[in-house]
Amino acid sequence: MLKTAHQEIKKAAKKLKLSDSELDELLRVENEHEFTIELTSGKKVQAFRMQHSSKRGPYKGGIRFHPDVDFDEVKALATLMSFKTAAVNIPLGGGKGGVIVNPKELNDTELEELSRKYVQGLHEHIGPKQDVPAPDVNTNGRIIDWMVDEYSRITGDTSRASFTGKSLKNGGSEGRIAATGRGGFLVIEELLKQLGRADQALTFAVQGLGNVGEYFVRTLQQQRPNWRVVAVSDSSATIFDKDGLDIQTFLAYKEGKGRFAHYEDDRAQVRSSDTILSVQCDVLVLAALGNAITEDNQDAVQASFILELANGPVTAEAADMLQKRNIEIVPDIIANAGGVIVSYLEWQQNMENESWSEEVVHRKLEDAIISATRDMLVTARKEKVHYKTAAFMNAIKNLM
Ligand code: NAD
Repeated sequence: MLKTAHQEIKKAAKKLKLSDSELDELLRVENEHEFTIELTSGKKVQAFRMQHSSKRGPYKGGIRFHPDVDFDEVKALATLMSFKTAAVNIPLGGGKGGVIVNPKELNDTELEELSRKYVQGLHEHIGPKQDVPAPDVNTNGRIIDWMVDEYSRITGDTSRASFTGKSLKNGGSEGRIAATGRGGFLVIEELLKQLGRADQALTFAVQGLGNVGEYFVRTLQQQRPNWRVVAVSDSSATIFDKDGLDIQTFLAYKEGKGRFAHYEDDRAQVRSSDTILSVQCDVLVLAALGNAITEDNQDAVQASFILELANGPVTAEAADMLQKRNIEIVPDIIANAGGVIVSYLEWQQNMENESWSEEVVHRKLEDAIISATRDMLVTARKEKVHYKTAAFMNAIKNLM
């Protein structure tokens, strides 16, 4: 995933004729924080916060709790966040944090202690105007609520703008859960409108129906009844129906924790998980995991567009090959930026001591993401580059 982003950044930098030193400067991480947290139990864990760029505003990015978290990966993810916030033109920078720990091995008391000690170790370097972390892998609203509370206790800050992704009762924003899937839908809808294809009866295949995939298909069904989701997949199977799946029934089945391989329906067919990639459709939506499409399986793809809702689901090599086959890729830094945009809106509400309705949040998300999509298209047309390169070129211009 990170290799892919790095290659894309280099490609865009070359197109913009950046010198090596300008590129190095663009990739330089401003601050690196590393410290050890010791729990009452005596257990010691390593913690990080990487702050890549604050040129456009406070650092912004998640905190992950995972046994495989490593220093270089957190640094690279912080860098990528700066490109994402710049690509969608919000006044925030990029950061990322992590703790090398398996949270499943901690009880609730230890998890709270860890969350609070993370803030104790970092409080001088974070805050509403400095660095605003959010949840990421294995962290959630409950953990963030503890962190906000700890930050307020230490600093006296009452704005609750020190973190985003809080629970609603603790200053979180309406519309956050749906934001990434909804944002992805708005991106592809705008693109298809601009290409004059939105009124056609288009077909979609969706890999991964977790939080992001689910809100993508829900929004699609609400907003565009003439578009059909013809296939969805999880790691066990692809469910296919060329006439379009009944999404409500399907989501209800999934809610009951049904694995797709056990799905039974008179009309739909159950096929292997990988089949999703070769489904004949207009848009293939990748909402599961990184590196889903590589050089080895890219030739299976039959869609006209790929929408990258996961982070780095298409490798750089595969992207080149797909683009040569006229398959356009709508890149993750735009397609899945709905989450960070609503994080920004949460921060804004806290800073202004306001609480906006879901409708207002939706409208502001729509404005931001549609404008970023149009900017990407303008650059792609003007510079005669693919969407991916165009999005990274816009990000670089905003970061310089
Ligand atoms: P999630 O865990 O809720 O959902 C992922 C889904 O993918 C699960 O339902 C899982 O069953 C499915 N899956 C796993 N392996 C699969 C496979 N081989 N084939 C098909 N499906 C498979 O995660 P999410 O929050 O929906 O995030 C999805 C992706 O989007 C991740 O890559 C994440 O990093 C990225 N992302 C998420 C957000 C967000 O706001 N949640 C923001 C930006 C990027």
